[in-house]
Amino acid sequence: MRFDNRLDPLVEEIAQKIRSCTKCNLAEGRLNAVPGEGPQHSDIMFVGEAPGANEDEVGRPFVGQSGNLLTELMEGAGIKREDVFITSVLKCRPPENRNPDKEEVRSCAPYVLAQMDSISPIVLVTLGNVAYDFFSTTFYLPKKTVGDVRGKVFRLHSTGCKFLLPTYHPAGLLYNRKLIPDFKADMATALRYLKIQ
Ligand code: SF4
Repeated sequence: MRFDNRLDPLVEEIAQKIRSCTKCNLAEGRLNAVPGEGPQHSDIMFVGEAPGANEDEVGRPFVGQSGNLLTELMEGAGIKREDVFITSVLKCRPPENRNPDKEEVRSCAPYVLAQMDSISPIVLVTLGNVAYDFFSTTFYLPKKTVGDVRGKVFRLHSTGCKFLLPTYHPAGLLYNRKLIPDFKADMATALRYLKIQ
């Protein structure tokens, strides 16, 4: 796996813009914006929905229970958390963890797309329905639920990222642990596609 821990000015520039962003109303209620974290040039990029209470409190992605499960499952598959970039479509927490609305997604979208361009991962893993919905709209992929498309790999043509792989959000796995084997299979698929270029 490619691993380059240098701080890229562009990614840091994007993070600084996110931290001071007031483009949508979510800026008013946040404690911290959560730009994401990970090495500059990562082969795998994980994108979830939006920060929750724990992430909002510390300004880091996927901390707390679902973050711990994500870390445990990816590391169990042989993917070190510090080797991948982890972020979300929305960078600020929606109140009561409600789903982001269309205007919030539209306002925030340029940040995750800029991160994707800058990091240029081989495989982009979307976590949950909101993230898949956003990227399927952006890249004209089938409009389906994650339950229908998880584990399928879509080749992307108009971006530096080669493949998109939808899977479940770890918060969903906490509620339904029967889905964990599927998630593990999807991590194995992500690793396999690193070798197909
Ligand atoms: S959610 Fe995105 S667009 Fe809205 S204030 Fe936060 S960083 Fe800016």
